[in-house]
Amino acid sequence: MVLSDLGRRINAAVQDLSRAPNLDEKAFDNMVKEICSALLAADVNVKLVQGLRKSIRDQVKFKDLPPNTSNNNKRRLIQQAVFDHLTHLVDPHSEPYKAKKGKSNVIMFVGLQGAGKTTTCTKLARYYQTRGFKACLVCADTFRAGAYDQLKQNATKAKIPYYGSLTQTDPAVVAAEGVARFRKEKFEIIIVDTSGRHQQEADLFAEMVQVQTAIRPDQTIMVLDGTIGQAVESQSMAFKQTANFGAIIITKTDGGAAGGGAISAVAATHTPIIFLGTGEHMMDLERFEPKAFISKLLG
Ligand code: GDP
Repeated sequence: MVLSDLGRRINAAVQDLSRAPNLDEKAFDNMVKEICSALLAADVNVKLVQGLRKSIRDQVKFKDLPPNTSNNNKRRLIQQAVFDHLTHLVDPHSEPYKAKKGKSNVIMFVGLQGAGKTTTCTKLARYYQTRGFKACLVCADTFRAGAYDQLKQNATKAKIPYYGSLTQTDPAVVAAEGVARFRKEKFEIIIVDTSGRHQQEADLFAEMVQVQTAIRPDQTIMVLDGTIGQAVESQSMAFKQTANFGAIIITKTDGGAAGGGAISAVAATHTPIIFLGTGEHMMDLERFEPKAFISKLLG
């Protein structure tokens, strides 16, 4: 089920309630049930959905409403509770790192191969560039043949300076060299792309730590593929334990993304989503803001 379907189903459930001739507790319970099954169908973790069900019930306290409460007021209370608790699901209440002008902000990307790291690195560099930051890219993926070429192509198209090596095989060395050079040249946003795959997962995680130790990034961003559903949660937990990223970007939210996995990843790692990838092009990056996101979802 895609995100817009989720919004439509939740909305329909709330609308049904408005049309119910008798806005009683049974109608309210049915609405909460329908919202929860929509969330489950969109891959949101079962425990989170159960929590939401309880929170909405607790906030509305249907039984305790004065008997003369008008249907309109009941509806408003219910809509507010649904909105508040859905927002709460995607809002970890922690502030992401804010890049500062006039200093070198080093941003490291982590995530599995195919998640959209390289594409998103360029999008983010461009995002900052259009906001007056001097931005550049470093390719520290020495594992995948062609990774450097891909970054080079994207960077050239976007007119963003880049660094990489065809001969150096140690990603921590390439990363450190690139960051050192760009720091010297007073670049303000230095984005480091890393490998997303190894023969053994343990090697990938060891490499992430080596690169992180070598460049000491101001921010580590995990790129998550929005289309992979429930698997996102365990994946993000494993990365969090190793690289302790401070922000998430969800890619591929255009097309068929269920979105629920992403919501679960935020809850599991208490980490804010900062951007959504909305397409394959350089401009397809949207800032993520919990309230605006849920408002849009609910139409
Ligand atoms: P990496 O292996 O993590 O570096 O992933 P890439 O950046 O190479 O991206 C893998 C594929 O996903 C490419 O075909 C990208 O064009 C595509 N991709 C990345 N972000 C998005 C997005 O937001 N929407 C869509 N539709 N495709 C994306």
